[in-house]
Amino acid sequence: MKKQVLTYIKKIFTGRARITDKQKYCAIIYSVALVHCFLTVVFGYLRVYPLFIFNIASVITYLFASLLVHKERFWLVYYITYLEIILHSFVATIFIGWMSGFAHYIIALVPVGYYICYTMDTKLRKMVIATGSALFGTIAYLSCKVLSNLITPAYADNISSWELGLFIFNSVCTYAFLIVFSLIFISEIRFTQTQLRHQNEILERLANIDPLTGLYNRRSMQIFLNHAVETDTEFCLAMCDIDDFKKINDTHGHDAGDVVLKEISQIMRQYTDNRGYVCRWGGEEILILSNQSMEETRSMVEKIRRAIANHLFTSDVKIIRCSVTIGIAAHKSGTDIEDTIGKADNNLYSGKKSGKNRVVA
Ligand code: GH3
Ligand code: MG
Ligand code: MG
Repeated sequence: MKKQVLTYIKKIFTGRARITDKQKYCAIIYSVALVHCFLTVVFGYLRVYPLFIFNIASVITYLFASLLVHKERFWLVYYITYLEIILHSFVATIFIGWMSGFAHYIIALVPVGYYICYTMDTKLRKMVIATGSALFGTIAYLSCKVLSNLITPAYADNISSWELGLFIFNSVCTYAFLIVFSLIFISEIRFTQTQLRHQNEILERLANIDPLTGLYNRRSMQIFLNHAVETDTEFCLAMCDIDDFKKINDTHGHDAGDVVLKEISQIMRQYTDNRGYVCRWGGEEILILSNQSMEETRSMVEKIRRAIANHLFTSDVKIIRCSVTIGIAAHKSGTDIEDTIGKADNNLYSGKKSGKNRVVA
């Protein structure tokens, strides 16, 4: 159980999980209610009756607010919390003075308004409300201080020996709220970043990868080809075409044809590895950009040709044999890439004419 909780917390702070809004606001509201329960006991014990009654009302208010959280009325919950904290600061300042530190909670309110804006309302109007309440909070905070200089708190004597304790307690709570809020903010940003990265990966896949074969599509191959030409690197092109593929489709069905195409693609990827790029150029035509010399490319595609010719393709219970013909051409620096593709195509055509299942360079 402890391990599961720790794993969950770790997931939240690495952006792999997200606390729901209800969980988040409920946790905050219940902690605030708990603080008020504690203060009710303290003020009851110290016989500071106005604050004793106020804190009972606060606990009831927060329990009511927790019902609003379940109804997802987060802005209303914010307004209620905001009013309660400001009123509590004034009442506490009036009855027990400034030094008990209750006005600090007004500061902790500032990020809350912006946080709600960030997570659920991008409308400018709400941003204005968050900024307005932050400014109003500043005024309220300073007013409390001025008020404390003008009046003598009626219950100052009741708390004199507790004043420092209350100040420390309130400061710790304020800092704890600020830290928790900052952590929630970070976890939220991390989660959004993880989601964005994931979506980008999907989009990139959709844009660059052929869904049937998992090979690069023609669009991405064009980028690799342009790059290879621009950087003036030595490379060769191998144009591959499956032999008598129409017959395979006609004899075993289109689905079996798909299986063959997929497995051939896998074999080509496996043998090319990181020595180039494999792309689905057309229907059952595959183009390999090999970052190697002519000799190395010829040896690599010969291995591919042999592997395919020896492979038993299986679809349902059918066993299919098949071969590929491959035409190779080395790209000459300064020439047009279309010429190199044309040469590879011509060699492929020669291979088809002279009996198929062969490599022509
Ligand atoms: P050749 O040896 O001369 O290449 O003969 P071939 O029958 O393979 O002729 P061609 O290359 O012109 O055949 C292309 C065929 O490939 C036509 C089309 O039905 C089939 N094909 C193209 N794309 C797909 C695909 O995604 N799946 C399947 N199953 N068949 C496809
Ligand atoms: Mg073809
Ligand atoms: Mg063919």
